[in-house]
Amino acid sequence: MSSKDCLFCRILAGEIPADIIYESDTAIAFRDINPQASTHVLIIPRKHIATINALDESDAQQVGELFLAAKQVASQEGVAERGYRVVMNCNAGAGQTVFHLHLHLLGGRDLSWPPG
Ligand code: 5GP
Ligand code: ZN
Repeated sequence: MSSKDCLFCRILAGEIPADIIYESDTAIAFRDINPQASTHVLIIPRKHIATINALDESDAQQVGELFLAAKQVASQEGVAERGYRVVMNCNAGAGQTVFHLHLHLLGGRDLSWPPG
């Protein structure tokens, strides 16, 4: 899939509205349209990378910065102390539906383990 057909690239381009709550040079974060917890934020790289399987060595910094963004978002959402979960689904069998790398950040309720 090229980035012009990618939903999250279209959000990055401003073509589709989203509730963006964090932006950096390499990543943005916005609220999930179908939240599974009171805080459910998607953190995505500006670079189009389809899945974890498509990562290469040159993406290491990008991926690290997703976690730094998660730390910042958790703090600003007020869930850092109580606890939160970050999840990245890879491919359809794990529930991935949008093929642009994204971390889910979930918080604001107790989260059971293992996930379904
Ligand atoms: P995945 O299933 O690929 O791990 O996660 C994709 C997420 O994107 C889902 O949680 C879904 O609710 C969310 N999503 C799908 N379309 C949109 C949209 O247009 N806007 C926003 N903000 N989230 C979306
Ligand atoms: Zn994309």
